[in-house]
Amino acid sequence: MKIIVIFAPLNNSCSDSFNFIVYFYSQVLMVVLFIFAAHWYLSLFTQSFFHHRYSAHLQFKMTRFWEKFFFIISFIFQGSSYLSPYAYGIMHRMHHAYADTEKDVHSPKYDSNFFSMMWRTKVVYDQIFKGKVEIDEKFKKNVPEWHAFDSFASHTATRAAWVFIYVLLYLAFATHWWMFLLVPIHAVMGPFHGVIINWFAHKYGYTNFEVSDTSKNLMPLDILMLGEGFHNNHHKHASRPNFGVKWFEFDPIYPFILLFDRLRIIRLNRAIA
Ligand SMILES: [Zn+2]
Ligand SMILES: [Zn+2]
Repeated sequence: MKIIVIFAPLNNSCSDSFNFIVYFYSQVLMVVLFIFAAHWYLSLFTQSFFHHRYSAHLQFKMTRFWEKFFFIISFIFQGSSYLSPYAYGIMHRMHHAYADTEKDVHSPKYDSNFFSMMWRTKVVYDQIFKGKVEIDEKFKKNVPEWHAFDSFASHTATRAAWVFIYVLLYLAFATHWWMFLLVPIHAVMGPFHGVIINWFAHKYGYTNFEVSDTSKNLMPLDILMLGEGFHNNHHKHASRPNFGVKWFEFDPIYPFILLFDRLRIIRLNRAIA
């Protein structure tokens, strides 16, 4: 847009107005893209850092204060698709224990398409969340619990309020009708990220390690999924906080883990870090 402004005739008011409209329009378009990208990455960050690496795998330690802090941050960033770190942690431990067997809670080997896999995952998640299934003690050990907060954050009215906020943001900033097609993705952002890994990273990509399951590294440069795409590496070394193994496999969340450790927000186990 700047090129248009620079080369426009300075004494032509009509052209200046046109340039201003084009410039303004491009800025508004960017607002929607910025909102989408911010929600994508902030929601994914909390799911990967707090739910996956901490709750499910206990790759580092944190105090009860910081646990509660990240519960609240996860709620703000995940919004309408907030996942209980307790139910997620248990469900994900079961995935690793039974990966690609009949007891796996989600596997492309036992689900015909990713919608049916998503639905089955949701059913299992709800059963764990509502305490309707017997859970082996090993899957519950040291999983962070804050049930009162989880109940509030997962309430239908709370989820609906978040969707209402997303719609208001799009009413304020969307410049085309098609932009509203992004709203359903905002509404299910957490499970949307989950299915990318649980379906595609168990079907497509390359492997660094021979493992007993179908896990793959989705792509050699994983900016899109903040390192979660190095799923074959992760299935091989589940307690390792750095998901990258090869020199080119950069895990964007690992530097934050090192920073949080330095700031004493978390305590890394140096033997595995
Ligand atoms: Zn997996
Ligand atoms: Zn995992």
